[in-house]
Amino acid sequence: MTLKPLSTSALEMPRSGIRAVLDLAVRYPDAIHLEIGQPNFSTPEHIIASALLAAQQGFTKYTPNAGLLSLREAIAAKVRRENGFPAATENIIVTTGGMGGLYSAFTAVLNPGDELLVPDPGYPNYAMVAGLCRAQVVRYPLDAETGFQPDLESLPRLVTPRTKAIVVNSPSNPTGSIIPAEGMAALVAFARAHDLYLISDECYEKIIFDAQHVSPASYDEDGRVLSIFSFSKTYAMTGWRVGYAVVTPEVAAIFVKLQEATVACASSVSQKAAEAALSGPQDCIETMTHAYRRRRDRALAILQRHGSPTYTPQGAFYLLVDISGCGQNSDQFARDFLAQEKVAVAPGRTFGPRGDRYVRISLAASEEEIEVGLERLCSYISQRRSQ
Ligand code: PLP
Repeated sequence: MTLKPLSTSALEMPRSGIRAVLDLAVRYPDAIHLEIGQPNFSTPEHIIASALLAAQQGFTKYTPNAGLLSLREAIAAKVRRENGFPAATENIIVTTGGMGGLYSAFTAVLNPGDELLVPDPGYPNYAMVAGLCRAQVVRYPLDAETGFQPDLESLPRLVTPRTKAIVVNSPSNPTGSIIPAEGMAALVAFARAHDLYLISDECYEKIIFDAQHVSPASYDEDGRVLSIFSFSKTYAMTGWRVGYAVVTPEVAAIFVKLQEATVACASSVSQKAAEAALSGPQDCIETMTHAYRRRRDRALAILQRHGSPTYTPQGAFYLLVDISGCGQNSDQFARDFLAQEKVAVAPGRTFGPRGDRYVRISLAASEEEIEVGLERLCSYISQRRSQ
């Protein structure tokens, strides 16, 4: 018997091009991995110790949907102190990583047929989740020539009566750009002028090199900004799956229902680990950011030596490398480059059509892997360009 078709929105969801490269890379056990955004640092010891203790002390059960009160208090204090906008426990929902927060934000805001403005290039999961909500993704361009900043003059032309929200990601994956204060204030003003929600993905807020992180919610006047944060990158805690959203109490009540229906709550042990991360020493952030900055500078030096057009990422831990003139789209390029040179990179196309000129390398790998991988990439690019 032929079974009925499975869910259209689930079937139509594009697969991440990064995972596709990762699957291919399994064939090459000695491949250098520059495709995935996974810090090569371990979670700091004091955080792990707190989690072990928490498990022994009985933090092994469901927590409230919104998260442990003690953690939400610590998060609210951090947001007031470091992100510069008012927050109380009623505004905080602890989520299963930034992805859990983004999923709830999209589900809370979007109706089928709504349009959502997302950056191009931008994190692929935005389009994936928007598709599940049956919303239409409208991509707003970020170009190297303008420092990958949103163009505030052309943005209004993308707005229609169906536009519901805009996603803003600073520091950005995959460009590493940071939106400065005046740009962020203008984006919030744009959202207000067109009555849009602004979903702010701040998962890389602490990985900054030469700029300052600005939270759009610090310009919010009427609760239209939904702010999503994560412990994953700040404290090298990707596997713990813990992040948080800062939203109005009305939106928080929706998040609570959504979490009950999907995950109940973030892992109790991970929540205690997150509490330790916030209350413990913060020098691990400086240590890791320093290492990412060094790797960025090494990477830029290699690109410059090879005469490759480049730009300076100001945060996150990614760098887009221009492959235009190589005669291949970025998917084919990443596949062939892996097969020939045994280096896995992320095809830029997975971040949107404007990404197709690039492959993305991750600075979360070791310095040596970055150097060897990037040298091979630059030689491969000049070889292809001269063909
Ligand atoms: N947002 C961006 C831009 C990311 O790159 C990632 C992960 O790579 C996330 C959100 C979600 O990360 P997590 O769910 O581990 O917090």
